[in-house]
Amino acid sequence: MEKIFITRSSMPSYEEYIEAIKPLWDSHWLTNMGKYHKELEKQLQEYLDVPYVSLMVNGHMALELTLQSFGFPVGSEVITTPYTFISTTHAIVRNKLNPVFCDVKPEDGTIDEEKIEDLITEKTVAIMPVHVYGNICNDEAISKIAHKYNLKVIYDACHAFGEKIMVTDENGIKTYRGVGNLGHASVFSFHATKVFNTVEGGASVFSNPELYEKLYNLKNFGIRGEELVVEVGANAKMNELCAIMGLCNLKHIDDAIKAREKSAERYTDALIRIPKISLLTPREDVTRNYAYYPILIGDGYKCSRDELYTKMREQGVYPRKYFYPITSDQACFKNKYKNCSLEVARDMSKHVLMLPIFEDMDTEDQDRIIDMVVNPLK
Ligand SMILES: *Cc1c(COP(=O)(O)O)cnc(C)c1O
Repeated sequence: MEKIFITRSSMPSYEEYIEAIKPLWDSHWLTNMGKYHKELEKQLQEYLDVPYVSLMVNGHMALELTLQSFGFPVGSEVITTPYTFISTTHAIVRNKLNPVFCDVKPEDGTIDEEKIEDLITEKTVAIMPVHVYGNICNDEAISKIAHKYNLKVIYDACHAFGEKIMVTDENGIKTYRGVGNLGHASVFSFHATKVFNTVEGGASVFSNPELYEKLYNLKNFGIRGEELVVEVGANAKMNELCAIMGLCNLKHIDDAIKAREKSAERYTDALIRIPKISLLTPREDVTRNYAYYPILIGDGYKCSRDELYTKMREQGVYPRKYFYPITSDQACFKNKYKNCSLEVARDMSKHVLMLPIFEDMDTEDQDRIIDMVVNPLK
């Protein structure tokens, strides 16, 4: 039987992509903020409903350079969560800043806003929460704290592509705004495994035009003219072939998300009433992208999370323990940084199992996966 992996990259048809990259054989312009880089920035600005987009080579460099762009002093503290992909913590540490780990909430895995304030010291400069699984953090509470202590808020929004959150304006009128408008900046990843991909890629989004110039320098060696380098920048530009992949995929993104929604609903219908299996509960005021389908295998279920993980793999289905272990427990970070009790994050990471979900998931395959979860001892 065919193996089923945790995800399968969405791609345009071969013909569509080949047709779209043809002009490169006339222009020979392959990178350096070319026409397609600029076009994708423009289209993403509209799609994500944000004032500015700076396209990057990947999500990690977007996180690293966005943090760097604020110019925090070495050794400053950034409050973040360990229930995330390792990249979030790496981005902080590689900027010579110290992560301070805050616990998460059991219902959706996002930072527990009630535990943030106790972690603030005179060295705290920023909060870097994660919209984990596309579950949007309580920005209202977070930005209140940030305002009170004069901290920057930089969201790792890598899981939250295209999501919108309901806001009420001063006349009481409700509208949906892109989640990238939350905080001082947000970072998205366009890695091949994400809902929207450019093969490898990412972006930082924000409302401050100065940040656009700063990030432009940081992603292109600080070069501002043939003979002028104004800053010690890295190289984190997105190339034209990736930008074109993004332009093609963006045309189909709404269909891709709809297809994922169907699969997510099938999972939910099948699993919601299974004793000892629990699902997370994302906020209801957010439009979802169905990027991930995590479930929690409770103690006392027919088998443990690890047993289920192994059994599924033996039958050719590859779920993931996403996120296990929590980043603060990884070999490179263990016992090095301050944290509050991380009981909830650690507990979630011991019970979570991410089921395969992707745009073109076959319903028979999905039924096979569901059967493995519901009848693991068969
Ligand atoms: C994917 C991801 C990243 C890193 O993005 P890349 O594009 O793979 O570099 C960072 N944080 C989270 C939460 C992610 O899921």
